[in-house]
Amino acid sequence: MTIFNCECGNTLLMQDNDISCVCQRCFLSYERGIKKKDIKSKILYKHCKTGNVYEVLDDNALNVTNGFEEQRCVLYTRNDIKTKSFVREYDEFMEKFKKI
Ligand SMILES: [Zn+2]
Repeated sequence: MTIFNCECGNTLLMQDNDISCVCQRCFLSYERGIKKKDIKSKILYKHCKTGNVYEVLDDNALNVTNGFEEQRCVLYTRNDIKTKSFVREYDEFMEKFKKI
């Protein structure tokens, strides 16, 4: 058994036969040899028609364009190519995308 400290200060126990463990406090993941990778739970949605996967950055963004005040919007980006971010009205987003 290995005992070590997570970046966040939490103490983690890893059994000898465990391949990986996840800190329940900050959700960092550690692999055997204490190599870590960030899996901070991304919110991913799939476009129903194209199948492209997007990461939602904020599902409670506010449209402040004149005439659209208080409209709830989703801010999202392609999961693989993060060159652009997109905004779409919340209800429309939820119609066209499926949470994965
Ligand atoms: Zn932690």
